[in-house]
Amino acid sequence: MMPEIRTVSQTQCIRCGTCCMKGGPALHEEDATLFAKGILERTHVYTLRKGELVRNIDEVFMVLEQEIIKIKGQGEAWTCMFYEDEKTACGIYENRPVECRALKCWDLREFKEVMTRPYLQRKDLVKPDDGILKVMDAHERRCAYEILDSAVKGLEGPDPQKAVEVILELLQYDNYVRPFLTKKLNLDPSIMDFFFGRPLTTTIHMFGLCVKQEGDTFTLSPTAHHRD
Ligand code: SF4
Repeated sequence: MMPEIRTVSQTQCIRCGTCCMKGGPALHEEDATLFAKGILERTHVYTLRKGELVRNIDEVFMVLEQEIIKIKGQGEAWTCMFYEDEKTACGIYENRPVECRALKCWDLREFKEVMTRPYLQRKDLVKPDDGILKVMDAHERRCAYEILDSAVKGLEGPDPQKAVEVILELLQYDNYVRPFLTKKLNLDPSIMDFFFGRPLTTTIHMFGLCVKQEGDTFTLSPTAHHRD
């Protein structure tokens, strides 16, 4: 998530592409104009929800205290979806987000200042009368990472079976709501990670678990590396 700090003497961008290959930027309130202009669309981004575990600038895991919206990668790769490998260039360079404008890998002071500015939130990109807001709120209440975290801790408590049931309920609801809404509201499936964050079946590995899915049935097992 964070740029590599250069150790060589460097005072300008040499277009190595390293920062873009380490992941797309987090978006701040001032990046809302990029959506208004049509440079960015909600299908281009995904949401890291409150309570997710991320690496901070010092590569230390931290719990997100508020949601963050980020530009997607390229398939399974972290590389920003707008990075053009053949040209080693940004496909939206003139309209790149504020973090990208501030990032100088040889001097992170401006980047760190930008990181203190307010982050863009999902509600900034949804019309106030859009019915999806209620569904997003319901999903946030039912699938909050605080619930998952508490249930995972409960696996080592006096009633592990109850903890498993809670985790499976979270997985099933999160897994159900996405295709249901895609069909019901005729939405592009690729917008779901903006509305609801990444699927819990994907992010649960951060909590030391992995899940095998067969139809609507989920099987939990511990991962080799806890919270990694
Ligand atoms: S938006 Fe452009 S500059 Fe920013 S990470 Fe993506 S490719 Fe790089």
